[in-house]
Amino acid sequence: MVTNEELAELLFPEIKTSIDELEAKYPPRSLPEGAQVTRFAPSPTGFLHTGSLFTSMISYMTAKKSGGVYFFRLEDTDTKRTIEGSERDLIDQLAHFGINADEGFYPEGDKGEYGPYRQSARASIYKAVIKELIRKGRAYPDFCTPEDLDAIRKAQEESKVLPGYYGVYARDRNLSNEERVARINAGTPWVIRFRSEGDHERKTKFVDAIRGEIELQDNDTDVVILKSDGLPTYHFAHVVDDHFMRTTMITRGEEWIPSTPIHLDMFRALGWKAPKYAHIPSIMKLDHGNKRKLSKRKDPEAAVSYFLEQGYPTQALLVYLMSIANSNFEEWTIAHKSFDLSAFPFSIKKIALEGALFDQDKLNYFSKEIIARMPLEEEFELVKEYAKGHDEALNAQIERDPEYVKKILNIEKDRKNPRKDYAKFADIYPLIRFFFDEEYAKILEAGLPFKEGDKKALASLLLDCKNLPFGTDEQQWFEALKEIGAKHGYATSNKDYKANPEAYVGSVSDCAEALRVAIVGTNQSPNLYEILGILGKEKTCARLDAVAARL
Ligand code: GLU
Repeated sequence: MVTNEELAELLFPEIKTSIDELEAKYPPRSLPEGAQVTRFAPSPTGFLHTGSLFTSMISYMTAKKSGGVYFFRLEDTDTKRTIEGSERDLIDQLAHFGINADEGFYPEGDKGEYGPYRQSARASIYKAVIKELIRKGRAYPDFCTPEDLDAIRKAQEESKVLPGYYGVYARDRNLSNEERVARINAGTPWVIRFRSEGDHERKTKFVDAIRGEIELQDNDTDVVILKSDGLPTYHFAHVVDDHFMRTTMITRGEEWIPSTPIHLDMFRALGWKAPKYAHIPSIMKLDHGNKRKLSKRKDPEAAVSYFLEQGYPTQALLVYLMSIANSNFEEWTIAHKSFDLSAFPFSIKKIALEGALFDQDKLNYFSKEIIARMPLEEEFELVKEYAKGHDEALNAQIERDPEYVKKILNIEKDRKNPRKDYAKFADIYPLIRFFFDEEYAKILEAGLPFKEGDKKALASLLLDCKNLPFGTDEQQWFEALKEIGAKHGYATSNKDYKANPEAYVGSVSDCAEALRVAIVGTNQSPNLYEILGILGKEKTCARLDAVAARL
């Protein structure tokens, strides 16, 4: 008779480590009461998804708010989906958002005592656990070919029963160990399956940190735990890794809810206490009136890189995501006049369940507030960095005269209610290009949107505006503008004009508008006095001459 012990030895002769040794090597962490150990565990399959940034932020905040540990694990066991090098992008992008792991996989080497943090480097750990499960009769080799599995599926379809490898349909579950040994020795390819003792007629309950109690059908499927390439499946790797890395709360996407009974089944078989689960809702999008998940294929905003290319400050995106996570956050930002996430009492329990709807306007609102309130030097540094990678025209201007650009960014900034022009750094150049002479020449060429009226009179008004003072305060400047306006028939106040419109060409605001159109090229701009101050007398006068000559 072949014992389980002998079968285990035949399958994994090279594995000498026991579970007890692993328990000793990765002891429970000594952390204060209530401290949570969380992780973000992406697969290196391309780019950082907006939903993944959301999940990692929640994971990070949960650990930080509780004085715990947040770590990063690379789930690279699906070698077919792995994209070489994308792990570095993931880590770099997360770092860009300040989501730095206390422990985990780093391309230049792991950090922390609970590694390796890259699943492909953990094969011997998984195998050690599997060897023990085989000894205990809770795992077995399965020799089914894809064709065999197809045949099982067909038989299930015909009998109108649920698909899967369970009960009588688990073909190799009850092979004798002699038969197993014979097939292994004959070189038949195998995978390892978990032997479930669950009962599909019964329910499994667990408490989700966001959703409360969840009740699902118990697992009775003998899932594959080790593939033929020697690497584990997600189900098994999750259980082993989160046990030995001593995770206390699994923050993962809600698509994993239906698999949770499988995971709990394995935790039970191994005699391990399962961590808490918090299944994070997906970010949804409204598409022709229907809600659907943000899709990698259809939605550019599904990739975090999209926001970075547009120049949304990372803080704006995080703040926006936090407003989706905790619906009381926006109110908090207003009450505390702050967007500092580390000061916000984030609570995982308050995460709204109905899938959060992606809302570009809301993101823009937060982003405008954040850019407007950013100290000038900080804004300038971020704009400079952005322009270098994404905005050639702006970059050229910054390289040519950084101080000039800085002055422009400072318009109406240093005050209680700063001006909120930019939702993203890509908005900047189109709004400020008139400051640069070569761009202004193009604007002039395209024609200026003056109001209908006497062109000669307008030219003479504009030429007179060359006498406006420079270097005075705004009040004095405005008085001078009124005076010039009055000379040309403009009322010095709107009130006077309204009282007697027939007597005037317009009011002082029409006069300011004409000057604005001449200098800026549109009838909307920030404070004209500040604009002229930055342009300086020489440029202003040259522009007024050029415009007047064309009228
Ligand atoms: N690698 C899995 C995923 O990307 C991780 C799920 C989890 O956090 O456990 O969906």
